[in-house]
Amino acid sequence: MDKIILVSHCFFNPHSVIKPKKSNTNLSSDICTHFLSQGYGFFQLPCPELTCLGKKRWAMSLEQYDTPFFKSHSQKILEPLIPQLQDYLNNDTIIAGVIGIKGSPSCATHVVSSNPNWEGIFTNDIESCQKIDGSGIFIQVLQTILNNLNIDCPMFELPSTNISPKEKDTWTQSLKKHMK
Ligand code: SF4
Repeated sequence: MDKIILVSHCFFNPHSVIKPKKSNTNLSSDICTHFLSQGYGFFQLPCPELTCLGKKRWAMSLEQYDTPFFKSHSQKILEPLIPQLQDYLNNDTIIAGVIGIKGSPSCATHVVSSNPNWEGIFTNDIESCQKIDGSGIFIQVLQTILNNLNIDCPMFELPSTNISPKEKDTWTQSLKKHMK
């Protein structure tokens, strides 16, 4: 049985992330090396924010992306994935898991950045954005697609670069243990 892991776009491409943030590519590199050596494949999902607002977008909250327009955009860019997933499923391949991005209003799977009050002219008050339980808008749309295809797989999220070596080790061990 072949196994494929779906990953958020910036798992491999830190240049899609808003400045000055970068994704934790040191950790993705370790994860990639491990799972490739175990025979897994990786499928890079499209970046919903870059393909909607471009590289010069501001940091935004879950609530700002929670619109019919962004959901429709997410659905549209995920549409080409659906027949590919169906074909994999028809040919002895399982979706082993999804790795999103912790804190992202679009790609978080468990901890997402929230600020219901953000709107209007941008002020640099990033600290007022809270981390709450929940998933990003793009992942919610992806989850519906996976449900419709009867794909039941674990969801993980890549932590940011500022985690301790111990936290990194704990996260990596959990990923290796729970990936299908
Ligand atoms: S929208 Fe998702 S893929 Fe794009 S930069 Fe943000 S977390 Fe990464």
